[in-house]
Amino acid sequence: MTIRENLTAIQAGLPEQVTLVAVSKTKPVSDLMEAYDAGQRIFGENKIQEMTEKWEQMPKDIQWHMIGHVQTNKVKYMAPYVSLIHGVDSLKLLQEINRQAQKNNRVIDCLLQIYIAEEESKFGLDENELKTVLTSDALHDLQNVRIKGLMGMATFTDSKAQIKKEFSRLKAIFDTYKNNKTLTTDLSILSMGMSGDYAIAIDCGSTMVRIGSSIFGSR
Ligand SMILES: *Cc1c(COP(=O)(O)O)cnc(C)c1O
Repeated sequence: MTIRENLTAIQAGLPEQVTLVAVSKTKPVSDLMEAYDAGQRIFGENKIQEMTEKWEQMPKDIQWHMIGHVQTNKVKYMAPYVSLIHGVDSLKLLQEINRQAQKNNRVIDCLLQIYIAEEESKFGLDENELKTVLTSDALHDLQNVRIKGLMGMATFTDSKAQIKKEFSRLKAIFDTYKNNKTLTTDLSILSMGMSGDYAIAIDCGSTMVRIGSSIFGSR
């Protein structure tokens, strides 16, 4: 199967309200261009330097999503162009994104990453930390960031039941805040689901899936 065929098959199976992020990390620009020529305009990368090199080389109507963990000292490199940052997991990071967005005269959209897996290695906020961030007075000062939703990763496991449990929990957390009128933010994006588990994620209410190997092949 070519990249175009993979993309077409995946897109055909996605409900209308679900956005596809093509995760192109480690793949060469020629592979990304194949996806671009097939109509894909949203790409996800997890390393800032790699994303910036690809941004420089590729057409400017692409939306670049940072899906990896972000260090505060790296924010400045993507602030001029990044379209959505998925992995925001602290107020401190939000404040730095705000500062760099201001310097670039932009408003940068962000998702807060929530920890839902049972693994030790996954980043993210727990429910209490999420509440603290979303109700923080400091948020009002951040005019150059927009919290658009939540992101999460399920445990890497063969157990569909466990994955479903974790995604359902994230959806429940999302729903708690989605229509909360006391928040200054309007949450509309729920980023969950990768190549191995996106069908379950969509069943659980995902609005954005991040798919890499099923499009570009294994890494
Ligand atoms: C690599 C990655 C993906 C895509 O993974 P695949 O299994 O290749 O689809 C999705 N989300 C994040 C955060 C990733 O790092």
